[in-house]
Amino acid sequence: MPPTVGAAPELERLGDEIAELSAQLDAATARLLDLIREFDARGGWGNGSGFRSCAHWLTWRVGMDPGAARERVRVARALGTLPRLAEALACGELSYSKVRALTRVATPETEERLLKVGRAGTAEHVERIVRGWRRVDRIAEAKQGIQRHRSRGLHVYQDEDGMVVIRGRLEPETGAVLMKALEASREALYQLARNNGVINKNVPAETLHPETGLLVCEDTPTWSQQQADALGLLAETALHHGIDPGTPGERYQVVVHVDAPVLAESDASTAADACGTADASAASNAPGQSVLENGTHVSAATSRRLACDSTRVVMRHDADGHATDVGARTRTIPPALRRALQHRDHGCRFPGCGLPFGQGHHIRHWANGGPTTLSNLAMLCRRHHRAVHEDGYQVERLPDGELQFRLPDGRLFPDVPPRAPVPPDPAERLRAQNEAEDLHIHPRVAIPDWSGERLDLGWAIDVLHPLAASNS
Ligand SMILES: [Zn+2]
Ligand SMILES: [Zn+2]
Repeated sequence: MPPTVGAAPELERLGDEIAELSAQLDAATARLLDLIREFDARGGWGNGSGFRSCAHWLTWRVGMDPGAARERVRVARALGTLPRLAEALACGELSYSKVRALTRVATPETEERLLKVGRAGTAEHVERIVRGWRRVDRIAEAKQGIQRHRSRGLHVYQDEDGMVVIRGRLEPETGAVLMKALEASREALYQLARNNGVINKNVPAETLHPETGLLVCEDTPTWSQQQADALGLLAETALHHGIDPGTPGERYQVVVHVDAPVLAESDASTAADACGTADASAASNAPGQSVLENGTHVSAATSRRLACDSTRVVMRHDADGHATDVGARTRTIPPALRRALQHRDHGCRFPGCGLPFGQGHHIRHWANGGPTTLSNLAMLCRRHHRAVHEDGYQVERLPDGELQFRLPDGRLFPDVPPRAPVPPDPAERLRAQNEAEDLHIHPRVAIPDWSGERLDLGWAIDVLHPLAASNS
């Protein structure tokens, strides 16, 4: 090997040790990726720990930078379907750098060929081949994308009998939205039918659907009839509410109904109920009910979250439940304060999150008398705002101004968890562990077969990539 020829023996030994320990580390990285893959697949980062993704959890728990953490999770997932590459990393034969690059393009079909690329080339060759490979992939993908985009279309016309006929092709993402909307709409219609008692008490029980209790007769709609009804409701809803989906802050308007005597009382615990209960059966003069503008009753926790950072309209009611006074619409957090909040918090403050935008959370709810001031506000993304209001996570501001988060069980949720303890000689420990796994790693395990010739990238891609010939 050219670089070590003629080197002093002790330098050669040093080089060997670097090569050997690097291979040991790569082998250990393979095990680390296995663990990450399992933790990710089993949702360890979400269940009870409230992180948005496995990468966010790694950032928090291990202290990786977000890019590296995302990359680890991506490679871990990819190796789940690429056993040959996983094995090459696990025995220290391919470096993590090479495997990382190869997993960007490898599929179970091309894995074998790319493994050879990894063995034969230097890390730089591998990187260049992968870039060339992706170019070919992208060209193929773009062609397919353009094809799809061009073939989109929706035809709506009236048939001879007056029925309106719909036929069309939607791009995958538009189609996904439509299917979601139809599902929600069907759900709503189904609820409506249940609530409106399509159930007829005078019919014998056997003609009622055993689960839904709906009347089973000639008119029970088929699946496609339900779809048609759902589409109708979608169209009506769009026309009724307007097409503009609105900005996130304006999407919900929280109307807080408060009894005049309750409002007059400044006691925090009573005022807390002012945006509390959501009992659908409560009369309009019941203290403390909270409903959305469209009449949807929401849980106490949800209504408190929605009210936390929203447009607020306060109505006073007399004892009979008639509105006596309607206050002006005001933003709970004025724009200037929101800008200051964004400037100070730079996004979600939940440990390990860091999403650059969010909602203003009142640490002590305004309904409990919490002031709308910087010190009582913390920025949280939508997900973590929900975690705090609905999932039992707690946040408070310490006297020194730092935020302190707690898990639903009350345990502290540190911003920076302590590092795991490391044995006094980590390299020895690593060697011992790899030996125990029956891996015999030596300094030359990862040396490529390359003998120094120039890499002809165009030729390499043409030979390797299954689609290269048809795209060149
Ligand atoms: Zn809040
Ligand atoms: Zn967040």
